[in-house]
Amino acid sequence: METAQTPSAPEIVVIGAGGAGIAAAHRLQAFGFSVLVVEASDRIGGRAFTESETFGFPFDHGCAWLQGPGNLPYISAARSAGFTLIDHDDPPGALFSGGTRATPDDVARYDQAASRLRQLLASHADDVAASSLVNSGDRWLAAAATWLSAMDHGVDLTELSSADVAVYGAYAVNALVREGLGSLVEQFATGLPVQTGTVVTGIDWSGTGATVRTQKGDIRSQAVIVTVSTGVMSARSIRFTPDLPADVWQAFDDLPMGLLTKIALQTDGARFGLPENAFVTRAVDEPLPAKAAFFLSFPAGYDLCVGFVGGSRAWEIEKAGEDAAIAFATEQLASILGSDIRRHIRKGRMTNWGSNPWTRGAYAAARPGRHKARAVLSNPLGDRVFFAGEALGGAYPALLSGAHISGDAAARRVANILAAKTS
Ligand SMILES: Cc1cc2nc3c(=O)[nH]c(=O)nc-3n(C[C@H](O)[C@H](O)[C@H](O)COP(=O)(O)OP(=O)(O)OC[C@H]3O[C@@H](n4cnc5c(N)ncnc54)[C@H](O)[C@@H]3O)c2cc1C
Repeated sequence: METAQTPSAPEIVVIGAGGAGIAAAHRLQAFGFSVLVVEASDRIGGRAFTESETFGFPFDHGCAWLQGPGNLPYISAARSAGFTLIDHDDPPGALFSGGTRATPDDVARYDQAASRLRQLLASHADDVAASSLVNSGDRWLAAAATWLSAMDHGVDLTELSSADVAVYGAYAVNALVREGLGSLVEQFATGLPVQTGTVVTGIDWSGTGATVRTQKGDIRSQAVIVTVSTGVMSARSIRFTPDLPADVWQAFDDLPMGLLTKIALQTDGARFGLPENAFVTRAVDEPLPAKAAFFLSFPAGYDLCVGFVGGSRAWEIEKAGEDAAIAFATEQLASILGSDIRRHIRKGRMTNWGSNPWTRGAYAAARPGRHKARAVLSNPLGDRVFFAGEALGGAYPALLSGAHISGDAAARRVANILAAKTS
């Protein structure tokens, strides 16, 4: 991928080349600042990552749905670069109950349960654990709660903040990307000055400006935008001098990483009576957190059933390893569609965001009662250290769009502050 020449004495350093860092760099460049993005891993995109080696067609390990407001530059970037957006606002569903297709009455029950659940959490005035509001004895409500809690937020109901659910904005765009959303993010970063393979170990923000310490040497700058995940921050992977105030560390610790693990099963062309791009869901009869994996069938027409497991179950599965995960996902799919599907599975792949040292989970989820931690991190430190990333995504937390919005907002604030200093 083509990156611009990297400046040796940038005015602003952006840490992390994911959605937030890319947005910040674009905005700063547009304002005429010299900027350098430093990235620990050997690729651009962070949690946006499309890979085609495993299956011979694109598979998004991280974000796959482009979701958010209508003014996201990714929409026009996709069009001008020839990417295919597959509208998924009203997705097909395939609902199952004990190995057979659910009846129309059950489908109606499930749909009602899903909208009731969202309304219940979104309308609750206090920030409490979702489990205190939801009686999940109903098998359709439990299925809806598994999508919403374990998969959308990456945590069990007991760890889900009702305020985190309430905050979500409407989607003007909700689309899968045939070529992979990770590829689109990488394409969008073309021409930005990104230095990959550069691990930031510290930030010295004493005195004026800031020195970013990396394994390849120090970089002096006027301001820094830190976009690493809350998981990376909470692991204290970056040492701050002087140390961050206690309330800032507390805010990171109050936004621990949830986990969504994908287990993708490649099939031999058989379609099992399922449509493309359909959410495959089953009634949940076991106590929550459910052991269930749900699926997306044949995204963009590829021969793939993508299993999703979230929350505590995802941490367990990831720890058990890829072979166990593939066996589990195959068993789950067979329990829905019948044992015959086993002979149609060719290959599997499990994602591993939980053990990835540069993410340490999938996305941040506020601890119940601690949703306000997100606002704490929106404040800059000493007018020269700024935080951005999906955890600060406003009405679109946990999403690529939220990461983009927060990176763009941080860049605008940096620009205003530096402009005020020089005027
Ligand atoms: C399985 C999964 C599915 C998802 N599905 C969707 C979806 O469908 N739609 C959607 O909108 N969102 C989805 N998301 C969320 C979305 O991917 C993220 O919200 C978004 O990509 C985060 O961007 P970011 O810039 O905040 O963080 P990141 O992408 O994590 O970027 C931060 C960067 O910092 C780098 N870094 C970390 N530590 C250091 C260090 N010490 N020095 C230098 N660099 C460092 C990392 O390598 C990384 O590249 C999903 C995420 C996962 C994991």
